[in-house]
Amino acid sequence: MNNRWAFIGELPAKVKGLVKDNGRNVVRSVIDAIYPAQVLDRDPHDPVNYAAPNEAMLLGGLSADTWGQIRFLSDEGCDMCARPLAGGIYLGAGGRCEGCTSKPFPFTRTRAACLYGEASKSLILPFKHADRTDIGPMFTQWIGRAAAELIRDCDVIVPVPLHWTRLWSRRYNQAAEIARPLARQYDKDYLADGLRRIKATKRQSSRTERAKNVKGAFMVTPAGVRRLRGRHVVLVDDVFTTGATVRACAEALMAAGVRQVDVAVIARAAPDVDAAL
Ligand SMILES: [Zn+2]
Repeated sequence: MNNRWAFIGELPAKVKGLVKDNGRNVVRSVIDAIYPAQVLDRDPHDPVNYAAPNEAMLLGGLSADTWGQIRFLSDEGCDMCARPLAGGIYLGAGGRCEGCTSKPFPFTRTRAACLYGEASKSLILPFKHADRTDIGPMFTQWIGRAAAELIRDCDVIVPVPLHWTRLWSRRYNQAAEIARPLARQYDKDYLADGLRRIKATKRQSSRTERAKNVKGAFMVTPAGVRRLRGRHVVLVDDVFTTGATVRACAEALMAAGVRQVDVAVIARAAPDVDAAL
């Protein structure tokens, strides 16, 4: 597993204490001393292209071409589903796109750090499927910026869970890899076992299939009911495609007495508006 943090477990207790006491900067410099800065969008098995510290530092860990191709989003488009509109127009707080007007989601707001396109996909897929958890801190930063308001307003951060069979084969939940450090950074409660995926969903294709696949796929655990009732939750996921997954999660949360659900994702898929931006 390509995990830059794994070595921390092997450090003597004294060093661990020092790292803990002096916080993030010390961790950063210890890591920088051992590992050079890397370009996250390149293959780590290709040492010539992978290590390019200066370029990586300038562009937050990405090569210039990938950075330039990612369409970052901030407050824009639909407040409810983060669907961008041509020209970066923001409909304002409570403003809804056509889809959300005819069929509203059970959550209130969504923020996405970027549009789901070829460049962001080339980072998200390895992060999800190829043990590239080293990309996680960068995504955490992106979401932290795009969804700052939502996170500040909430009480608890909850990742969209994987079914245990998928967690078993993948070994980590990519949404939790982002949600956990976000909660720490913003000093919010973090609840990884508040929601459980009780149906293993197949790879989905059409919009209706997606909706059918995830219907009733999530339940709020007894711990979730205890700790989430009456509270404001930010749900974290990697990609917002049709919103079927976060809809199913938010339905379960709201039925369990959660006061408000907001959604924060790395990327928003909107293929039909992509070209117009
Ligand atoms: Zn919308």
